[in-house]
Amino acid sequence: MLYHSTRSTQHWVDSAQAVLDGLAPDGGLYMPETLPAFDWKACLQGDSFSMAAQILSALLPDFPDMEALVRRAYTGKFQTEDLTPTVKVGDYTVLELFRGPTSAFKDVALSMLPQLMTAAKNLKGQEQDIMILTATSGDTGKAALEGFKDVPGIRICVFYPHGGVSQVQRAQMATQEGSNVSVCAVEGNFDDAQTGVKHIFAACQGKELPFRLSSANSINIGRLAPQIMYYFRAYRDLLDRGEIQLGDRVNFSVPTGNFGDILAGYLAKQLGLPVGRLICASNANNVLTDFIRTGTYDRRRPLHKTTSPSMDILVSSNLERLLYLLSGDTELVKGLMEQLNTQGTYTVPESLLQVIQKEFWADFCDDARAARVIGGVYQDLGYLLDPHTASGWAAATDYRAETGDSAPMVVLSTASPYKFPAAVLTAIGGDTRGDEFQQMERLSVITGVPVPQNLAGLRGKPERHSLVIPKEQILDYVLSL
Ligand SMILES: *Cc1c(COP(=O)(O)O)cnc(C)c1O
Repeated sequence: MLYHSTRSTQHWVDSAQAVLDGLAPDGGLYMPETLPAFDWKACLQGDSFSMAAQILSALLPDFPDMEALVRRAYTGKFQTEDLTPTVKVGDYTVLELFRGPTSAFKDVALSMLPQLMTAAKNLKGQEQDIMILTATSGDTGKAALEGFKDVPGIRICVFYPHGGVSQVQRAQMATQEGSNVSVCAVEGNFDDAQTGVKHIFAACQGKELPFRLSSANSINIGRLAPQIMYYFRAYRDLLDRGEIQLGDRVNFSVPTGNFGDILAGYLAKQLGLPVGRLICASNANNVLTDFIRTGTYDRRRPLHKTTSPSMDILVSSNLERLLYLLSGDTELVKGLMEQLNTQGTYTVPESLLQVIQKEFWADFCDDARAARVIGGVYQDLGYLLDPHTASGWAAATDYRAETGDSAPMVVLSTASPYKFPAAVLTAIGGDTRGDEFQQMERLSVITGVPVPQNLAGLRGKPERHSLVIPKEQILDYVLSL
């Protein structure tokens, strides 16, 4: 099985090379030529580790002993053996993706990616160090730093928008330990940071560098593929609890930013899992809601700062993969991406829009509504949602009301509520005095749920990374490392 870019079929690589490269040379994203036949029913029999190994082997067939890589990635790092537990909350099932080492759902993928990257490096006999470049809207950065710290032969450099992440998120990154890590704030928003990183890849093409560039963003297929597992895991939990029969369709509501998480759900469906509708939940930055409802993607709008910063995004990179998967047309995708680049907008053909709308449904939720959802769910059901998850909950509710589709609904929970204590306290009527650390403690006292240890331990940790640079200097900064 070979991979090619979403924008052309001229350049083919194997799965190890796709993981090493991150981005295809023409700026597109790597996709397999066809998805393999997959025994999804057999996959559902195993535990989370075995599910992950089977799915990853199917998508990344060049990696030997995937089971060992999976064990090394996850053993002892998550709060529960099943990695991503589910909880029944009212009418929905909440899939808790935040039980990993940094309390972010990105831990699932970013614990795995360093194992894949190291294996790919060995497979390809690549001796030069790899430099991972990552732009983060908050959670990716810490999860990537934690995953890659002190991995031999790999260095990592993380850029985040100055003032665009929470106090806890900033503390998580600024205190990062490890001999191979760099962290730098950029004056600008997340899109500035992400665009800056993309430009580095373009500018360094063909240049002699002391390292080889790669990426930990979900543009890397090695980052996307590990996320498929938890859709299977959730389905299995519903089976085990007798809520569904094998083959029944299950809907998933996904708080969405870069479109990686929800695309993993679509890939799960392509592998055979009976996924019904995938509900794309956004915050006030509702560019995806508009796109899925109208077929026009238009990034020419202000970026709003919201209480769910990991979804404050105007350009959702992985949407490009969906456009390719559903159209099979690299020329079309190339043209659309060029229009996005030059005009800031594109419109997909009507036939493509119809396929998109068959698989996806979209909705958004502003901060005020997210707060009402958090307050309501806590009061009525005793469960604490974070603001990202609240948007997924709201979209699930609207979906059911508008369509009458009452199939079982899984709401993906992408962050611990303790990472956004001010917003959560406000929503449940608590007092928000003090800094975020005091707020976390107060939240814990009110709810009786302890603060995750990785967050509680941040206080008093020495700050190691405090540089802020203008966005024009991102390239120079990397070249100076
Ligand atoms: C990254 C992130 C998202 C968005 O996930 P995508 O894969 O980028 O769509 C949602 N919620 C939280 C808390 C995140 O960290």
